Amino acid sequence: MNNRELFTKNRLFCPGPTPVPEQVLAAASETSIYHRSDEFYKIFRECMDMLAPIFGSKNLPLILTSSGTGGLEAAVVNLTDPGDQVAVVNGGKFGERWDKLTRTYGCDVATLEIPWGTAPTVEQILELTSRRKDTKALFLQANETSTGAYYKIESLIPAVRKHFKGLIVVDCISSLCAHEMRMDDWEIDCVVAGSQKGFGLPPGLAFISLSDRAWNGLSKRPRFYFDLKRERDGQAGGRSAWTPALSLIMGLQAALKTMHTTGLPAMYSHHDRMARASRAFAAAVGLDLLCKDSPSNSLTSMSIPDGIDGSKIIKDLRARYQAFFAGGQDQLKGKVVRYSHLGFVSMFDVIDGLVALEFVLNDAGHRFDFGAGVKAAMSTLRQ
Ligand SMILES: *Cc1c(COP(=O)(O)O)cnc(C)c1O
Repeated sequence: MNNRELFTKNRLFCPGPTPVPEQVLAAASETSIYHRSDEFYKIFRECMDMLAPIFGSKNLPLILTSSGTGGLEAAVVNLTDPGDQVAVVNGGKFGERWDKLTRTYGCDVATLEIPWGTAPTVEQILELTSRRKDTKALFLQANETSTGAYYKIESLIPAVRKHFKGLIVVDCISSLCAHEMRMDDWEIDCVVAGSQKGFGLPPGLAFISLSDRAWNGLSKRPRFYFDLKRERDGQAGGRSAWTPALSLIMGLQAALKTMHTTGLPAMYSHHDRMARASRAFAAAVGLDLLCKDSPSNSLTSMSIPDGIDGSKIIKDLRARYQAFFAGGQDQLKGKVVRYSHLGFVSMFDVIDGLVALEFVLNDAGHRFDFGAGVKAAMSTLRQ
């Protein structure tokens, strides 16, 4: 069989970068605009206004030119001082990143290690934040992308808030747009996101929103590029401190317009549906979900049965079908496939990837009722 009949181009099914829709690509190809012009200030400010409801805040999110990690670094630099006691939840590669980042900046870090694929409980977090008397800030993910676990922020944080009065900083880079965020209502102090995940843009922008409390308690550390106070003063008028990634801002405007035309509730329920279809697929082909209790709506991690090499599954998906899935890292290497349905991903896109996965599983000798996975996904999508 000539597999190119099915996939004539690279298809991204990995949790970032996600596919870029045509209207965003077209807008991002606009290059003849000057960033010190009223025309651009207006576009920049409009993007901030359209971002705010996705963060669920009355405060305007700032737009930074960097990958998502730059947004995480900006949070640490602007909100902590050397020697501050901070608490970090580490349930995978991105929890580990908070751990490394806060240590790099000289924080006194207490870490809660949880098994990969699980979400932390309220009790675990309260134990963590009360380990020391002066815990200034808690750092965690909403969605641990390396495992596909969603930390149920909407119930977790309000419960933690009743007892913990420090800053709460949430890396929402892979959850925003797929899971609702209401940072004001849930009393979250800082939310970070990135362009190449739920927003369907190429990589290069980070978004960060701070609560009033966070703004009033900025750190005294020296800083230059990621000076959020300076950015806030300028960005209110559409002026970023440094040259912004102009083409990405143009693309962002198009992406946000599409999101608001669709409606945010419809966007969240769409992601929920894509996730349920992917989970139904996994059940039908006999793959266990890695995160049984708290699977994300951004991606679905499926465990590869013993005796089958998950790394080869990922390789074959790319070689035979030009389908780019993500595999497992570190302790999950060769053991999972991570299937993304984050961003501008239609139900037909979701089916495409599942078809490829079903072929490759079959080729690898995994025994299941061939075709049952896609059928189960279709049934879920029709409901
Ligand atoms: C993708 C991602 C990041 C940031 O990655 P960059 O490569 O710096 O954009 C951070 N946290 C999570 C949870 C992510 O999924």
